[in-house]
Amino acid sequence: MSAELVIDRGALVANRRRLARLVGSAECAAVVKADAYGTGLEGAVRALAADGCRTFFVAHVSEGIRAREVDPRAAIYVLNGLVPGTAGDYGPWRLRPVLGSLEELADWSDYVHATELPGEAALHVDTGMNRLGLSPDVWGEAAARRRDNTLGFEITLLMSHLVSAEEPENPINARQIAAFREARALFPGIKASLSNSAGIFLGPDVHHDLVRPGYALYGGNPAPGHENPMAPVVRLAAPLLQVRDVRAGDRVGYNGIWTAERPGRIATVHLGYADGFPRSGSAATGERGAEAIVRGVLCPVVGRISMDLLALDVTGAEGARRGDEAVFIGGELDVDRVGGNAGTIGYEILTSLGRRHSRREIGA
Ligand SMILES: *Cc1c(COP(=O)(O)O)cnc(C)c1O
Repeated sequence: MSAELVIDRGALVANRRRLARLVGSAECAAVVKADAYGTGLEGAVRALAADGCRTFFVAHVSEGIRAREVDPRAAIYVLNGLVPGTAGDYGPWRLRPVLGSLEELADWSDYVHATELPGEAALHVDTGMNRLGLSPDVWGEAAARRRDNTLGFEITLLMSHLVSAEEPENPINARQIAAFREARALFPGIKASLSNSAGIFLGPDVHHDLVRPGYALYGGNPAPGHENPMAPVVRLAAPLLQVRDVRAGDRVGYNGIWTAERPGRIATVHLGYADGFPRSGSAATGERGAEAIVRGVLCPVVGRISMDLLALDVTGAEGARRGDEAVFIGGELDVDRVGGNAGTIGYEILTSLGRRHSRREIGA
């Protein structure tokens, strides 16, 4: 028995249905970048496409090709845009770059004219992130090129990205919504998209024609501070290899950063940072770090998490013994809490999920 990652494809599909209901007549696409947030891109695309998802977003061309191999029909957008000198990698796979600068627009236009491919693409307008996308001072120029009919391809989606969608009170949301409205007026007749997972929960103003959830599909909480409405998709468990008694004053693990304050029981678990479980979940004496559930009891990680192993204080888990399962993601330990315990976010927990676990898909 090794550490086991269980991916619930049924929950993934249910999560998309839930979001689709929330957005009414808008289309609910799926973001499957970074190996579908660590859960396996092919399996995610297969399950979602079978349930009627017609549009996918990836970050890299290589991910787009993997998605295309699973779904010959879907619209597949590449969020990182047109990487310089690589237009020829998108065309044959009918991948749609999300163009985010006048240079990208010109490069794609040249490529499409030279190849006579249809070359559908999205246009990304920046409304405040200052990361990717056309800045407002060149929206007019891009719109003029579209009106001139010199682009040679159809812009099938106008999109922007929210900076702080998970903070409903943040005034940046209203500013971005207003800026996006201006952009839409310059590009009439193009489907529009603004919302990621958290954006969907800001309300119908932000849904437009298409929403682009990622995190919430995989069970992450899109509305922090409220009960998580999404079904858990990932479960990570690992067996206890040994359980030992410690006396008050005994130290555990590398550098002995954790000292037992009273007699107790410590389990050594078949999981470490090489499995993608973050070392930042280590806990020195008096600190809180990662947690796991053993025999229904929440047990703290103690000491340094090492490459292949970590230690749990199982004193409270009556009767814990070798071979018992410790659940690190699952039950009350949703990915948001696991991220918080390690000083990071659930997104990073998911996308770091290792390759060394045995993986099992259920509900496909
Ligand atoms: C990653 C990403 C998304 C999905 O965001 P979530 O918060 O995971 O829902 C949507 N749009 C863009 C541009 C992204 O980069």
